[in-house]
Amino acid sequence: MTCVICKTGNTVSGKATFVAEREDHTFVLRHVPAQVCGQCGEPYFGETETEQILRQIDQAARSGAAVAVLDYQAA
Ligand SMILES: [Zn+2]
Repeated sequence: MTCVICKTGNTVSGKATFVAEREDHTFVLRHVPAQVCGQCGEPYFGETETEQILRQIDQAARSGAAVAVLDYQAA
């Protein structure tokens, strides 16, 4: 698909890092499968990946860590 950010690049399958902030918590998920823009590097995460990302963030949030760096685990 064409990237909606730069509008010139096309996305290719790759891996990306997802960063989320919730209140005082920061979560970094690495190696998430995504479509990545070849031009600007903007990642697009699919529905399955997004659900799994949220699941892992919820788990990390319950642990109470202020900062969590996680590796994406396929569901
Ligand atoms: Zn782009």
